[in-house]
Amino acid sequence: MPRRFFTAHPLKSEPLVLAGGEAHHLSHVLRLKAGDEVVLFDGTGEEATAQVVKVSSGQVMLAVKSRRIATTELPFPLILGTAVPKGDRFSWLVEKATELGVTRLIPLRTARSIVDPGSGKLDKMRNTVIAASKQCGRSQLMVIDEPCDWGKFLQKELSEHQGWVADLAGVSPLDREATAPEVSGGTGLVLAVGPEGGLTTEEVAAAAGLGAKLVSLGPRILRTETAALALATLAAAACSARLGLGN
Ligand code: SAM
Repeated sequence: MPRRFFTAHPLKSEPLVLAGGEAHHLSHVLRLKAGDEVVLFDGTGEEATAQVVKVSSGQVMLAVKSRRIATTELPFPLILGTAVPKGDRFSWLVEKATELGVTRLIPLRTARSIVDPGSGKLDKMRNTVIAASKQCGRSQLMVIDEPCDWGKFLQKELSEHQGWVADLAGVSPLDREATAPEVSGGTGLVLAVGPEGGLTTEEVAAAAGLGAKLVSLGPRILRTETAALALATLAAAACSARLGLGN
């Protein structure tokens, strides 16, 4: 497994300098030295093989040897709109959604939402995305949007993408006739999951009225984060199968 580091600088800058937490991770945690090879990614989908040139206090200088477009992204947008679960369960959800290849996560404000994350919490979640991307081999960062109201979310996302709303009374996501989405590089699938108190009948009806499919994940009531990750997994598999690809 190559040692991967995130840089906010474009990979074509020369020389490339890592500072802060990434420099600390490279020099103090992994104890890498001049001459060692690492993989750098800048969050846009590009990655590079680079050689450590110099380690000094608080920063690491690297020389980029080769650059390439990473091949670990889903070939269609997979957007996850989800009510925000309490406490650490949100960071767990963000980490796992990153690993599963979700393109964009939209924290939803619904009628029964309790948690409305502030900008400090969302910035922390964006760092969680970077850490998860380093570990799982993604080079494009999952985007975390600002929180969005249910109505606005439906209007915007369902005008561009197809939709699946997690609902106990929905159809199975394995029912290809009913749910198989037509996705491409630009048109994707937007998923929606409600809060612990559930979505209201009106919220579900509004989504269905705009063409979203109601999708069941079985007869048990799942927590928001479990439903979100199960839905993302099944959606990625269904879309990939539709395109004749593996996950
Ligand atoms: N008391 C709520 C209700 O009856 O709707 C339970 C809400 S559940 C904890 C949170 C969200 O997860 C729901 O709004 C729904 O979107 C999704 N969810 C939970 N279990 C599900 C299932 N078996 N099938 C589909 N969606 C589910």
